[in-house]
Amino acid sequence: MFRRSLLVLSLVAATGTSWAQGYPNRVVKLQVPFAPGGTTDIVARTIADSLGKALGQSVVVENKAGGGGVVGANETAKAAPDGYSLGMATVSTVAANPAINPKIPYNPLTDFTPIINVAATPNVIAVHPSFPARDYKAFMAEVKSHPGTYSYSSSGTGGIGHLQTELFKNLTGAFITHIPYRGAGPALNDTVAGQVAMIFDNMPSAMPFIQSGRLIPIVVAAPQRLAQLPNVPTFKEVGLEPVNRMAFYGIYGPKGLPKEVVDKINSAVRKALEDPAVRKRIEDTGSLIVGNTPEQFAAQIKAEYEVYKKVVDSAKLRLE
Ligand code: GLU
Repeated sequence: MFRRSLLVLSLVAATGTSWAQGYPNRVVKLQVPFAPGGTTDIVARTIADSLGKALGQSVVVENKAGGGGVVGANETAKAAPDGYSLGMATVSTVAANPAINPKIPYNPLTDFTPIINVAATPNVIAVHPSFPARDYKAFMAEVKSHPGTYSYSSSGTGGIGHLQTELFKNLTGAFITHIPYRGAGPALNDTVAGQVAMIFDNMPSAMPFIQSGRLIPIVVAAPQRLAQLPNVPTFKEVGLEPVNRMAFYGIYGPKGLPKEVVDKINSAVRKALEDPAVRKRIEDTGSLIVGNTPEQFAAQIKAEYEVYKKVVDSAKLRLE
């Protein structure tokens, strides 16, 4: 009898549900697969404190940049499925890069456990103030009359900035050279310093530079014009609807995360998203708070991956 109950006890421990009930009992890592200063970093740091409070444990943000976000995403995919190694899921790492890069070391649809989509952000093409254009029409006239003269910076090879700008080039016939960085943070630094003429970025990281006049916004990807930038047209308005897609920032873990842990993190993120300071920080950049279910987020990742696969196939985009 005694032996039998011991056996039952160890079986329960091995199934994982018993430890999941006590989750979390130590620090939770939230990995950002890009350098500091980009939107992934901004969204992660915006929610980390409130998320930690809701979980009853600290949430520590760690940056692991490289390979257009693929290095960090791969680390999250290969981590132990215990809820202590979470990562920021970005459109670049789960959709754009897997769609264009045949050598991706993980499967975006099966190697992760999606938990929640936190926010959707507008994107922007912005130029250095020395660029001789202030609006879309003049911008197009300048790049079209100087093919190969200008470069654009992005958060990395195969990411949303790269793919969407290549799609933009494909649709308009413009010739601008790509310069990839280890995230939008370093890409912004060089663009603001005038080393690169323009950037394709997500709005939360670009907005402070736009507001201080150090970058000039030319065109945005958003459902409608942003209240913060009422004079800047959307890609849709200028006839480029395929480029008019927002980016997203969610949280995932490696595949095989117990449902109990997923649900705990999902409801803690929802709670964090009720914090007025968190909401304001996200919404001030024209971004939308999402806060959906794990199933909805999984469906969204799949849909977005398929969109980018189509973009890559129809525009015949290739990694150089
Ligand atoms: N979503 C952006 C990208 O993947 C984030 C870049 C960043 O955070 O640095 O391009």
